[in-house]
Amino acid sequence: MSDKPDLKAFLPADLAKNLSEPKSHAELMKHKRLTDNAFPHVRMRRLRQNAAIRDMVRENNLSPDDFIYPLFIEENTSERSEIKSLPGIYRETEKSMGAVVKEAAREGVRGVMVFGVSHHKDHTGSDSMDPNGLLARMIDRAKQASPETAVIADLCFCEYTDHGHCGPINERGDVDNDKTIENIAMQAEVAAEAGADIVAPSGMMDGQVSVIRHALDVTGFTHIPVMAYAAKFASNFYGPFRDAAGCSLGHVENVPKHRKTYQMDPANGREAIRDALMDEAEGADILMVKPGMAYLDILKELRQKTDLPLAAYQVSGEYAMMKFAAQAGALNFQDVMLESLMAFKRAGADMVLSYSAIEAARWIKNA
Ligand SMILES: [Zn+2]
Repeated sequence: MSDKPDLKAFLPADLAKNLSEPKSHAELMKHKRLTDNAFPHVRMRRLRQNAAIRDMVRENNLSPDDFIYPLFIEENTSERSEIKSLPGIYRETEKSMGAVVKEAAREGVRGVMVFGVSHHKDHTGSDSMDPNGLLARMIDRAKQASPETAVIADLCFCEYTDHGHCGPINERGDVDNDKTIENIAMQAEVAAEAGADIVAPSGMMDGQVSVIRHALDVTGFTHIPVMAYAAKFASNFYGPFRDAAGCSLGHVENVPKHRKTYQMDPANGREAIRDALMDEAEGADILMVKPGMAYLDILKELRQKTDLPLAAYQVSGEYAMMKFAAQAGALNFQDVMLESLMAFKRAGADMVLSYSAIEAARWIKNA
């Protein structure tokens, strides 16, 4: 005698009959009332069962073509030096940078972005508007080292101003928007003259894309695309970059110790989309979201709202987190880096700027 209650006593006669008599598969299915997409007919694991099938159904792939390598170049130095907060990344000299650009090209990385570490800083960042200044020289050297590499000029002033802000400071103690964009037009022209393939304004000044587009168009550079840092947040993940590029704030009196009056509030998603779409309207050819991993929602939403190519910038703090976690034995650097790069592709990025670009290209080729 079983302890179980007799279910049949509680069921309608036709269902009670099903409990006792074995049925054909077709007969059973009649009574299952499955929704269209439910277990057990649908089993997600069928397409995960071996590597061949997994490879066939993979939605995104990483390729060296996706990567852009950001490069720091310090003037007036004779030796490249490792950046303490970015293990494996160096401040190159004007001489040593060529070898790195060549190495990137050899591994299949299609673009490099050059950042200067200036020894000629002043209130406006005038060295970056000088045709013989560091910005122009870096672009020229990168182009000479590897003519087929797309050399992208970051257009901003923070690496060249003595106060570290992204443009001259006005009497209110804030970065002067309209003076900055007047200057950035000159900077764009200098970069284009020097051979930049793409210019990338990063200062988050209103109107910067439109003045650059205009300046390039009237000076014979209609063919140079603008990659706009379209949604750039006032992020704490930039820390190691500021060490690397020597543009930290706070060492000058009466000047804000933050960039919150021009870079975006990390709390704001709608505003990011609005700002990015404004850059598109001003003539941007590529839109960038920066930082990367903490802002994948912005990237994903932007992907749905524009048909322009999108770039994601995996910033120094993101690289450093993975690097130091790996050094502490907590993570495998290669594995987590590749996973994070894939996340950008999945969220909708066409290209990714990463300090791991060169090694990631190598890992992918050797996989
Ligand atoms: Zn800046």
